[in-house]
Amino acid sequence: MNLWERAIEFHGHHCCVLAVGYRAAMLAREKLGPLQEGERLEAVVETADCSTDALQAVLRCTVGNRRLLVRDRGKHVFTVAKPGKAVRLALKPGIISRYGTDFAVLMEKVANGTASPGEKGRFYSWQQPLMEYILQAPAEDLFDCREVSRAPADPGFVFVSVACDKCGEEVFASFAAEREGKRVCPDCAGEK
Ligand SMILES: [Zn+2]
Ligand SMILES: [Zn+2]
Repeated sequence: MNLWERAIEFHGHHCCVLAVGYRAAMLAREKLGPLQEGERLEAVVETADCSTDALQAVLRCTVGNRRLLVRDRGKHVFTVAKPGKAVRLALKPGIISRYGTDFAVLMEKVANGTASPGEKGRFYSWQQPLMEYILQAPAEDLFDCREVSRAPADPGFVFVSVACDKCGEEVFASFAAEREGKRVCPDCAGEK
């Protein structure tokens, strides 16, 4: 199984946004070069969508191993780091709308399950050529790429827990807050 196939298997289907994440992951690997024994990649993504799954499948940086941080900023921007080197890849404007300015509108409807049969048909007739373009285009046509000093750090694993004095559920101690002399979980503290 090649890495594109691994991304499709992990994500559940192939699509143009998966292709964006796949190309970003492959470009990051190329720019960072081989890893030394014991070195690991870390990634920060600025949206959670199909592209995130490609990054997880290709780079093996996952939400669960805490080597993938999702900072939801509404951007197809991917920062990937190894010890001593980090690259930031930003999808260039106009890539997703390459075959039509309302493609993103259609994609939203299809992804959210509100597209009519006609809209679905139009979407799929554009999505295939767009995906093929993204898979084959020169990387410099797709991404603005620059080296950055480092990826924003993940706070790391926490497992030490306390029981919330209000709802009784266990919560990681570093998430608990003091309210009127009690230790409470973020929900009971009224934090969002
Ligand atoms: Zn997808
Ligand atoms: Zn609580």
